[in-house]
Amino acid sequence: MEAPVVGIVGAGQLARMLQPPAVALGVPLRALAEYADSAAGQVVPDTEVGDPADLETLLAWSKPCSVVTFDHEQVPSAHLAALEAAGVTCRPGSAALLHAQDKAVMRRRLSELGLPCPRYVVVRAAEDVTRFAAEVGFPVVLKAPRGGYDGKGVWFAASADAVAKLLARLPAGVSLLCEEAVPFRRELSALVARSPSGQLAAYPVVETVQRDGVCVEVTAPAPDLDPELAATAAELAAEVATELGVTGILAVELFETSDGRLLVNELAMRPHNTGHWSIDGAVTSQFENHLRAVLDLPLGEPFARAPWTVTVNILGGPVPSLYDGFPHVFARDPGLRVHLYGKSVRPGRKVGHVSAYGDDLAALLARARHAAVWFAGDADAEQETGTPPGEGPAEGALGAPSSEPREPQS
Ligand code: ADP
Repeated sequence: MEAPVVGIVGAGQLARMLQPPAVALGVPLRALAEYADSAAGQVVPDTEVGDPADLETLLAWSKPCSVVTFDHEQVPSAHLAALEAAGVTCRPGSAALLHAQDKAVMRRRLSELGLPCPRYVVVRAAEDVTRFAAEVGFPVVLKAPRGGYDGKGVWFAASADAVAKLLARLPAGVSLLCEEAVPFRRELSALVARSPSGQLAAYPVVETVQRDGVCVEVTAPAPDLDPELAATAAELAAEVATELGVTGILAVELFETSDGRLLVNELAMRPHNTGHWSIDGAVTSQFENHLRAVLDLPLGEPFARAPWTVTVNILGGPVPSLYDGFPHVFARDPGLRVHLYGKSVRPGRKVGHVSAYGDDLAALLARARHAAVWFAGDADAEQETGTPPGEGPAEGALGAPSSEPREPQS
């Protein structure tokens, strides 16, 4: 029997990391890459270069695929609906994916479901923001509903003045999501895999550290997390997956507040940076379970293989060749697991990650941080561990409107 072809729209590191489990399962992948020599194009032989924003391209590319899934959310919703109308099976489907594509739609739906979110309003003008801020107080967080990633399209505004300045830089009349700035204790992420048959597999809830809107570090499971709160987070993710009809991996990014509440920040419906630990640290990785889920195969156990697994992202630094880091890193620490994405190095760009698992959390973190910094080329720099609890990022912080090349995976 021939294995079904799994199509992936996008060919970044997430599509690349689907390839090892696809090899193990004997499942052929077919990627649609936006440019040549993409992270996935280097390892998925059946990769076509084309623009997913072009419907004809999408339709032609998807023909040999039994099922189509995604490495990013940046496919026009109308195109997804058209693909489905043409008989292409998309997992997740367009109706579910919309909630990971549009933060305003997501907030509205989760609020309807009675799930805990930061207070929010959709705004078009500075007055809308000041009215909202009179209720919740400054600072507020403004977000582009669509197209943001890694903090791009997220702005903190500490005053009416800052709001006016920000809006002046954006196209007139654009609608934005405006949220209270949550004074969170830390950020958590709850991942579940869900198959079309409705089977669910919930990964241990992890702690994530973001710097300037970019995930830099993940600890599985989240240290000292109240077991009841952990169960609540996993149930919440399962409820979102079921209610929205998600198929594949769903990541629910959460804030844990100092008074022990959970608030949903955002959703991703694909393998997620906060699940990379599972490649080395779980019985079944998020990538394998994503494949199993979109193929409607029974899911694998999501349980951790060690008391702790940590992942530290390698962000581009001064050294252009990541390969040069191997002799030192491997000689110093043969227990580390290193994953490079085949991407050219640019400052701050996610180009790989390092994981370590075992019993001693502090030692694991120190080892993985050292290696990540070494690869980037700044061995003296201590990786910071993000924003201290209770302090939001600096005003205006997370990203100016940007014309940088699109790199939507997080
Ligand atoms: P992206 O889509 O770029 O990942 P997010 O909505 O996840 O954007 O925001 C990026 C980061 O900004 C979050 O991880 C968090 O650190 C911070 N952030 C976002 N929304 C809020 C909020 N309402 N209150 C406090 N911090 C926030």
